[in-house]
Amino acid sequence: MELGNANQKTGKTSENNSSRQKTKDGLIIDLEAEKKEISKRYRHLLKACKADLDKNDKKLIRLAFDTALEAHKDTRRKSGEPYIYHPIAVAQIVADEIGLRSAIPVICALLHDTVEDTYITLEDIRSMFGPVAEKIIDGLTKISGVFDQTSSLQAENFRKMLLTLSDDVRVILIKLADRLHNMRTLGSMSRDKQLKIASETAYLYAPLAHRLGFYNIKTELDDLALKYTEPEVFNSIADKLQESKKERDKFISEFIQPIKAELLKQGFKFEVKGRPKSIFSIWNKMKKQGVTFDEIYDLFAIRIIIDTPPEHEKADCWKVYSIVTDSYVPNPDRLRDWISTPKSNGYESLHTTVMSDKGKWVEVQIRSQRMNEIAEKGFAAHWKYKESAQETALDEWLTRIRELLENPENNALDFVDDFKLNLFADEIFVFTPKGELRTLPVNSTALDFAYEIHSDIGSHCIGAKINHKLVPISHKLNSGDQIEILTSDKQYPKEDWLSFVVTAKAKGRIKATLKEEKKHLADQGKEIFQRKLKHLKIPDSEVNMNDILLYYKLPSALEFFYRVAMDAIDLKQLREAVSYKDQRLRSERREPTLEEIVHNIRGSSDMLVIGENLSKIDYKLSPCCNPIPGDDVFGFITINDGIKIHRINCPNAMQLMSNYAYRIVKAKWTGQEQLSFLVGIRITGMDDVGVVNNITKIISSGLKVNMRSISIDSNEGLFEGTIMLFVHDTEHLTKLMKKLSNLPGILSVTRIN
Ligand code: MN
Repeated sequence: MELGNANQKTGKTSENNSSRQKTKDGLIIDLEAEKKEISKRYRHLLKACKADLDKNDKKLIRLAFDTALEAHKDTRRKSGEPYIYHPIAVAQIVADEIGLRSAIPVICALLHDTVEDTYITLEDIRSMFGPVAEKIIDGLTKISGVFDQTSSLQAENFRKMLLTLSDDVRVILIKLADRLHNMRTLGSMSRDKQLKIASETAYLYAPLAHRLGFYNIKTELDDLALKYTEPEVFNSIADKLQESKKERDKFISEFIQPIKAELLKQGFKFEVKGRPKSIFSIWNKMKKQGVTFDEIYDLFAIRIIIDTPPEHEKADCWKVYSIVTDSYVPNPDRLRDWISTPKSNGYESLHTTVMSDKGKWVEVQIRSQRMNEIAEKGFAAHWKYKESAQETALDEWLTRIRELLENPENNALDFVDDFKLNLFADEIFVFTPKGELRTLPVNSTALDFAYEIHSDIGSHCIGAKINHKLVPISHKLNSGDQIEILTSDKQYPKEDWLSFVVTAKAKGRIKATLKEEKKHLADQGKEIFQRKLKHLKIPDSEVNMNDILLYYKLPSALEFFYRVAMDAIDLKQLREAVSYKDQRLRSERREPTLEEIVHNIRGSSDMLVIGENLSKIDYKLSPCCNPIPGDDVFGFITINDGIKIHRINCPNAMQLMSNYAYRIVKAKWTGQEQLSFLVGIRITGMDDVGVVNNITKIISSGLKVNMRSISIDSNEGLFEGTIMLFVHDTEHLTKLMKKLSNLPGILSVTRIN
């Protein structure tokens, strides 16, 4: 329509209109009209920026816009639109929805794709916009792009992204805006890209938005992700919401009538909203409670927002609470007071659920305008209300994330798991003896609390007094507990501590101390070893560590020295070990039979136990046969890559065992329960005779996953199946899901929580 209008006004025809062009997809495009649209969008963006931008800021924003426009001028989005629409839209989100209205973030949003995708360099950015913009764009360039392939790469990128939190949080916020706009325009992407981007959004970005307190963005991301991963679910809920709208509106207006009257009578300035819950949260509830749409009682929440100064807001919120509960009977179990103790992402609100005249439970949320702004804009609102006590909660969270990131022990996937753990875990509130409040994830123990106070206190913790009663360090805390930590100089971190701490901080510190301790012991072991060499009159120079490691079947010198220190190695065999090479050559000449090998393995006393035990040897699961808990396995000592675990019936096993029998170690799993966990996945697709067969084939023979149950319902040519199975880890699960979604006729594969 816009194209037509523009054409009419100029009176040109398509033949002689020089501004019209044909794209390579055969689309006719009116460049004049586009130019107008671009400047319209740019002016709209300027309106969203701070009113008090100075002349220089305005000039810089214009320069950023012109630079981006020129750099992207030959590129179009998948939808056929000019590429520049995207950076303008991202900048608009940054200003409007995230609330960063000053020059730097807007400039960076406009330029966010230039360094990665065009001829613009970081030096260009620096010389035009200064070092701060350069740093932000650098951050944005580094974290974008590579999001691809495997889950661990994705996790690694996510980790990198969060790492930039410690540099400049604006990088994350612009990235979030970028993702939001990409999700809003996902419709023109191919189906597989849609699925990939949507699931990544649900997995990483929505939780991140939530954690940063951007409720509106989080909700929109979740809804959009659902729209693309499970379109039929999304559409059916959207339709039902639409159908029931009239009835709902009527109910809401009747419900709030007496409350409104009383609020007015008492002189409150207020606003009442009756908002339906998001499609995503309705769907979540349907899944969690196993109910249908019609059975969900709280499809919407009533929100009462009062206009009151900060010093009165708490008292006024409780006054409103009193008015609400005078009109309707509250459910005492459903009172949530996030005013006295805000959530750690800063959310403040008073929630109650009351019984309406129609016999329906209704959730009522009461908050001040300030609280509402924080609830909707999260982070950005904090900047506006700088004095707010919530700053500290947010800072604490950022500190926690930084601690996680700085821990080199964490691999990327662990990190995402820890991050998500800290994210989704509900929190408990506990107190120090002096009455200071601390927030910890649910299931935290006394030891977690000790580490929370200080890592030295954690390391020397021997017990605690909770509400004046003596408890062990593994004691689980409850909200409201007051905890006094007892320490002793004689105490040191133990490996089994890892089995009951839950905070990332405690885990990281314990692992680090244990590792240090091991290194320390290894140093002592090295001295013992060198003394022994002297004693045996073996010159140190002749000693080939490789031979020794092969002889003792150990993966590293550190491991060897550590065991020497622990007296777990028989140094009497040292002479033999040093001359091991010759022996090895001899043994390589004569190939042992398989029986001999198996006999050797069975007979050997050293057993490698595969599990989460830190002092045990490092090992890797071999990709050639992908062993999972429960498989018969053996360890193979590689020269440079530690011990690899293979299945006994691995195609390479015969060859390895027969050629390198001396490098084989016996191995067993610590126990299946510890290492595999039950997950559910939901599959939807076209109903087809072979489909169930194909699915089970992939699960049980392709990836050797133990299936616990499978149920498939089909309806009018479509099916939906739920499969419960044991997987080894998330990487394994991702692989399985990827395989399944590649099957013909499969529409979606999602994990059930
Ligand atoms: Mn982008």
